[in-house]
Amino acid sequence: MTQLRVGHREPEFDTTLIWDKNRTCIPLYLHIHIIMFAVILEEMKMAHVVVLGAGLGGSIMAYELRDALRPEDRVTVVTKDPTYHFVPSNPWVAVGWRKPADVSINLAPIMARKKIAFKAVAAEKLIPEENRIALVDGTSVSYDYLVIATGPELAFDEIEGLGPDANTQSICHIDHATKAHEAFEAFCANPGPIIIGAAQGASCFGPAYEFLFILETELRRRKIRDKVPMTFVSPEPYIGHLGLDGVGDTKGLLESEMRAKHIKWIINAKVKKVAPGEMTVEEIAEDGTSKGEKTLPFGYAMMLPAFRGIKPLMGIEGLSNPRGFTIVDKHQRNPKYPNIFGVGVCIAIPPMGPTPVPCGVPKTGFMIESMVTATAHNLGAIVRGGQPDEVGTWNAICLADFGDSGIAFVAQPQMPPRNVNWSASGKWVHLAKVGFEKYFLRKIKKGKSEPFYESLALKVMGIDKLKETTKG
Ligand SMILES: Cc1cc2nc3c(=O)[nH]c(=O)nc-3n(C[C@H](O)[C@H](O)[C@H](O)COP(=O)(O)OP(=O)(O)OC[C@H]3O[C@@H](n4cnc5c(N)ncnc54)[C@H](O)[C@@H]3O)c2cc1C
Repeated sequence: MTQLRVGHREPEFDTTLIWDKNRTCIPLYLHIHIIMFAVILEEMKMAHVVVLGAGLGGSIMAYELRDALRPEDRVTVVTKDPTYHFVPSNPWVAVGWRKPADVSINLAPIMARKKIAFKAVAAEKLIPEENRIALVDGTSVSYDYLVIATGPELAFDEIEGLGPDANTQSICHIDHATKAHEAFEAFCANPGPIIIGAAQGASCFGPAYEFLFILETELRRRKIRDKVPMTFVSPEPYIGHLGLDGVGDTKGLLESEMRAKHIKWIINAKVKKVAPGEMTVEEIAEDGTSKGEKTLPFGYAMMLPAFRGIKPLMGIEGLSNPRGFTIVDKHQRNPKYPNIFGVGVCIAIPPMGPTPVPCGVPKTGFMIESMVTATAHNLGAIVRGGQPDEVGTWNAICLADFGDSGIAFVAQPQMPPRNVNWSASGKWVHLAKVGFEKYFLRKIKKGKSEPFYESLALKVMGIDKLKETTKG
């Protein structure tokens, strides 16, 4: 009779025991526990980084994180809209030079290819104490590190009658631009005065100028420009200020272009209210007193609104400022919640100086890319036990298209006085902008933030995304 002795039975006959090399046996459940412990240890090392928002900043943020983190770290993108839209093309969509599909990309297959988890559900509320984002479908996403890239909420409601649900058009979102195009076609059948501009507190002036000149070009092409008086309305203290106190000679270039094209302007302007076909504007003097109000008639109006942070980030003490913008330090990191970073239009930047009517500072594409690169490097360092040490240059490089020409400017750094303060105009700017659109959309489709030839070209031009001297 075979004696049943623990440690001398063949393992295949006993599922509760397992043999090791020395022919002593370990209960199987203990093995499972050891394996589970190893898995937990591995998971403890692994970091889960969530990127909230997948616009210009968020999508390239996810791509750069995939390269900057360790292979075992997880990246998840949570966004309201499953589609990427190239926002700088919106002025072209609004005049019918682009269809929305031309500038839209379905992100899910690209993220899957890059091994980035993708959840197209909007955030309802960020709960930073619990490292968790509550989503509008009732689920939540937890994170070890979070990068906020949610862009702006458009504050149309701050001015009576403003916005695409009321009396003015917008080009801030692809859906607005599509609606603005329908309104433009109806306008062309019955032309009248046009008002283009930006509301008080706006920070994004470049697209307002772009749309003004693109419309002007399109009206000439349709041979109805002679029926359309055009006025530019802006809170800027002078034409070409751009929220940056001008770059190079943007004042001279833009004023001259407006004079040459018979476009009138009102600066230091506060929009009081908009009614159907009528905008009431107050002009403010240098000393802040009122110079009186004017009511301007219009057949078509597009006004860029002031921006604020999105609702899920509002009112979180230490994370957001009173307008809901995410507070970050020079490493793009929030001081109160050091596992939270912010990139893009959603971050808080103080205005560059007092102006009679409030003007914000623009956050432009290249500047956002520099924030993204700094954040990717810093998170890469943190998950490896290091400290964040990279600082984005926040250089502003812009191409403002006028339809058949345009102006370009480079501001290094963004705020004056600057090391590079250059602007120029010409037909080449329009061609360069078309080229840039194709190039950027290709980058998003390929899932690559900065191909080697781009970094080489930037190096040759002496334009950097990261500051050299500020480590530490
Ligand atoms: C009309 C226009 C033209 C511009 N043209 C230029 C230009 O030519 N050159 C230039 O340098 N800059 C330009 N800019 C400025 C800037 O480059 C863009 O605004 C850019 O899109 C900003 O990128 P972002 O990632 O910060 O925000 P966005 O691109 O707006 O992305 C925000 C993301 O957050 C998501 N999101 C929002 N709310 C939620 C939520 N609750 N939950 C989850 N996700 C959410 C959105 O779906 C989106 O994916 C332009 C801006 C505008 C408005």
